[in-house]
Amino acid sequence: MIRRPLHIAIIAATLGLSACATPAPVQSSGTVGVAGPQNSRAKNVILFIGDGMGVSTVTAARIYAGQKLGKMGEEHVLPFETFENVALVKTYNTNAQVPDSAGTATAMHSGVKTKIGMLGIGPGATSGDCASGAGHELPLLGEEVKRRGYALGIISTARLTHATPASVYARSVDRNWEADIGIPEGQRGLMCRDIALQLVEADFDVALGGGRAAFFGRDGKGQRLDTAGDLPRQWAARTGGSYVESAQALAAAPADKPVLGLFAPSHLTYMVEREPGSSEPTLTEMTASAIARLKSDPKGYYLMVESGRIDHGHHAGQAGYALEEALEFAQAIQYAIDNTDPEETLIMVTADHSHVFTIAGYPRRGNDILGLVIPPESSGSVDGPTLGADGKPYTTLGYANGPGAVQGERDVPATGVTARQQALVPLGSETHAGEDVALYAHGPGAERARGVIEQNRIYDIIRDAFGWE
Ligand SMILES: [Zn+2]
Repeated sequence: MIRRPLHIAIIAATLGLSACATPAPVQSSGTVGVAGPQNSRAKNVILFIGDGMGVSTVTAARIYAGQKLGKMGEEHVLPFETFENVALVKTYNTNAQVPDSAGTATAMHSGVKTKIGMLGIGPGATSGDCASGAGHELPLLGEEVKRRGYALGIISTARLTHATPASVYARSVDRNWEADIGIPEGQRGLMCRDIALQLVEADFDVALGGGRAAFFGRDGKGQRLDTAGDLPRQWAARTGGSYVESAQALAAAPADKPVLGLFAPSHLTYMVEREPGSSEPTLTEMTASAIARLKSDPKGYYLMVESGRIDHGHHAGQAGYALEEALEFAQAIQYAIDNTDPEETLIMVTADHSHVFTIAGYPRRGNDILGLVIPPESSGSVDGPTLGADGKPYTTLGYANGPGAVQGERDVPATGVTARQQALVPLGSETHAGEDVALYAHGPGAERARGVIEQNRIYDIIRDAFGWE
């Protein structure tokens, strides 16, 4: 039974929510972070980037993970939440208050903030203008890692040519130039290489993700203008490495040679839609493969692991999709914690930017995070969801904009893992948000992750941890 609408002030008064809410009892998780070594050097650095994993996503993912384990959820602790060093990160691009992944990932991998949509090119260039990039090329962390003799790994559940993974190895005045066909005709032949070509010409040890279509010609598996194009074959011939398209082939590839894995034509399949027996490796499986391969490097390694589809679930206005991706991301991080030495490996977890994603209402403790707002029993109404002024219930999770926008009369919202949450402003794709994101760090050099920092400072934290001048 659905109870009568209540004005929000009445709910607040009932709950004692005036200046501050009565805190719910907190259960000890028993997982307290262990202080890491101070001011020592890292042999290895792993940077986990949850694309679009703002703080509200971390909170919702924590509750969701706990509830899947049969707990109330709020008290649950995600693996990286035990890290003792945390910072807030300012994510804006040089020309955008609310950023995109190209500008933000460039900040982390080149040490310089740049314009929205640009990769490895400074803000003095003009977006989409090939010639304007000359003289504005930024350093790329991926290049420096290899130049200094370390091993390099790049992992994403998105296309490997997508903005975040591309920021490790590519420079482009437009993030959309993923394949040659993505470069507008007027900009072709001006010495700007597409991002897929830059990957196969780059030096790396492990690159695993999606995005196969950008690497093959239209006669084959792809979309390249060179209809017989086969960039992975060129790469394998140059490096002696293994090119693989399935988890099974990845497992069978020689451990002492580089590996390039492209497991889907575009992004990898959402966890929600993943079929049993899928040939695609999970993010955890890719992380495990990369660590196993890279750890034999005597000098050390840099590994970037992106959960690329938290962002996509949010853009679709479907929080359950985003949270399932976030849980797989957390599992990959747990794997890294369990399979590296904290005396020699710095692990950092962050997001490139946030989303307009909220945790709202006054749901009771343990309320289904993907469900309708059901008030605490102490409010005197225990028999149904809280109603809005329109007499309809609403979900705890929602968006400020996106495809779930209510137009006209509001429906009773759908709930569950595949539901689309209701939103305010109608947009085909829900947008990023501009508030700070968190950075969590553990291991040598982690003590530098403190305070409120500009996002490009993450590049310095990585280099300082390695002890590079
Ligand atoms: Zn996005």
